[in-house]
Amino acid sequence: MYPVQTGPQTLQSPVAPTSFPLRRRRGPAAVHHSHSSVSKADRNPLIQSLCKKGQLKPAIHYLSLEQNPTQHTYEILLQSCVQHKSLLDAFDVHRKLIDDGFDQDPFLATKLINAYSELDSLQHARQVFDELPRRTIYVWNAIFRALCLSGYGEEVLSLYRRMNRIGMPSDRFTYTYALKACVVLDSDSLLRALGWGKEIHAHVLRHGYESHIHIMTTLVDMYGKFGYVESASRIFSAMPVKNLVSWTAMIACFAKNSRAFEALELFHRMILESEEDMLPNSVTMVSVLQACAALSALEQGKLIHGYILRKGLDSILPVMSALITMYARCGKLDLGERVFAQMDKRDIVAWNSMISGYGIHGLGLKAIAVFQEMVRQGVSPNSISFISVLGACSHSGLVEEGKSLFDSMVKVHGIRPSVEHYACMVDLLGRANRFDEAVKLIADLRDEPGPKVWGSLLGSCRIHCNVELAERASQRLFELEPKNAGNYVLLADIYAEARKWDEVKRVKKVLDAKGLQKVSGCCWIEVGRKIYSLNSVDELNPQIEQIHAFLVKLSEEMMDMGYMPETKVVLYDLDVEEKQRIVLGHSEKLAVAFGLINCSKGETIRISKNLRLCEDCHSFTKFISKFARREILVRDINRFHHFKDGECSCRDYW
Ligand code: ZN
Ligand code: ZN
Repeated sequence: MYPVQTGPQTLQSPVAPTSFPLRRRRGPAAVHHSHSSVSKADRNPLIQSLCKKGQLKPAIHYLSLEQNPTQHTYEILLQSCVQHKSLLDAFDVHRKLIDDGFDQDPFLATKLINAYSELDSLQHARQVFDELPRRTIYVWNAIFRALCLSGYGEEVLSLYRRMNRIGMPSDRFTYTYALKACVVLDSDSLLRALGWGKEIHAHVLRHGYESHIHIMTTLVDMYGKFGYVESASRIFSAMPVKNLVSWTAMIACFAKNSRAFEALELFHRMILESEEDMLPNSVTMVSVLQACAALSALEQGKLIHGYILRKGLDSILPVMSALITMYARCGKLDLGERVFAQMDKRDIVAWNSMISGYGIHGLGLKAIAVFQEMVRQGVSPNSISFISVLGACSHSGLVEEGKSLFDSMVKVHGIRPSVEHYACMVDLLGRANRFDEAVKLIADLRDEPGPKVWGSLLGSCRIHCNVELAERASQRLFELEPKNAGNYVLLADIYAEARKWDEVKRVKKVLDAKGLQKVSGCCWIEVGRKIYSLNSVDELNPQIEQIHAFLVKLSEEMMDMGYMPETKVVLYDLDVEEKQRIVLGHSEKLAVAFGLINCSKGETIRISKNLRLCEDCHSFTKFISKFARREILVRDINRFHHFKDGECSCRDYW
């Protein structure tokens, strides 16, 4: 066989018989003893009609008697083997085909490659390809397709290179498969995959395929996977004709790359601009629901839910799981629970969606109960189930429960904890101020802890203002992620909290010297089914003057009532008034003010934020929920905050 470099699985056919010589037999073909009354000349149509009737065994029997089977007969027989999922019968057909001297026929080689690919025997598909001397473009494309379907991106790219070297021209299918190969490459070879993708993109342009719908859609998909949203968007905009798959690819690209706002905008454009027959399918719906979830766009999410019911998409499991997550992340956990309860069949994704839904709402005990119910019903938890349930324990401070679940991973469920699970445990212990145990756990790790684990530790250090450990964790993080501004900001926050202004300045200086930009805070709020984005540097919102004036007046009134702005979150050693002005401009306060101005009386204000809620915004929103008698839901990057009557559901633990 051929050497396998990388791939998700070994290239071994599970059912390949040990002695299977796919070679032409020497000498004359075996003598067949005819048991048939059918005359020689008539067998081709007979074999074909038996195949069409689904009678594969008799068809193969007559094949063995036929002296001159035609190409078409072989084609139909191979299709029939695929329909019957019979690899052994395909071997029989293949053997006879070799005996009859068809083994150099590129047309039948293509059919054989397709059949072996469908029958999960990539090994034999590849053997057919390797042993064929004259290879047409169809043969190349067939092997590309087979390798792509099985996730062997690396193999496709190496063959693509060989094909270019020998001067075989590519066609539209070749380019599509070569680009798909970049998408299915392992995540540890992302950079190389991107390099390949760009090169193939250049070939596509050079050969005049820039308006080919499948190729362009695959390019959108590929750039989306690598996070190159602008490139994907440019290609999408330039496409003269777009189909449902292209629109869906671009919506998914926005949704996956934290550009949920644009995902929803594009979805609306799709509905308005596209032809009537192009109705969103379940794949589109999943991406749109993810976007609604990210923005806490409840009203839009409900509309999508209605559409899903009308179109009968409510039996599709990924759609239902996305609905559960959408309701949970929009703060309507009860509606998520209802969707979950109504499902007659639940896969692991649905269970995990419910567990993490309880988790972000701080309902750790409920998350554990659902986890246990899932196990009781015989569904084996996977790695994500544990990330969800451990995260839930962490948000609820359930240290002992989390530890016992973590122990059960290997002992009961046979799942080796990954770095992500360790990061959850470090978070759980760190938040509970049990740093000795967290440090010991990190020391026990066999692999390099990695940025997730150190990041969890650093985050916990901020909650408890543990400067010493924060310095240790951030040192490792600066080595592992030199370009992540967030780590520097977090360390500076901790120094600021400890009033170590010289250290704050030092960290800020490093940050500036490296030219790193802090991610700016951004909030989204839905008013009357329309989503508005507000961020602290955004002056685009036409109401911004009114919002600022409203906030200043509000904060003055609140300060008279005893509210004191928490200015330690401002990293600069400025005077108090200046700091108060800065914290007043935080995006979540703008969003709260925008909500108070625009939402109807008594309506709950729902906000989502791309970063963690700062201490001042938290106490401000608590205060205002009482002062303005308004329920306010804010989802930050970690969890939900339900503000009501001056209290928050997180009990100041986030
Ligand atoms: Zn803030
Ligand atoms: Zn809170």
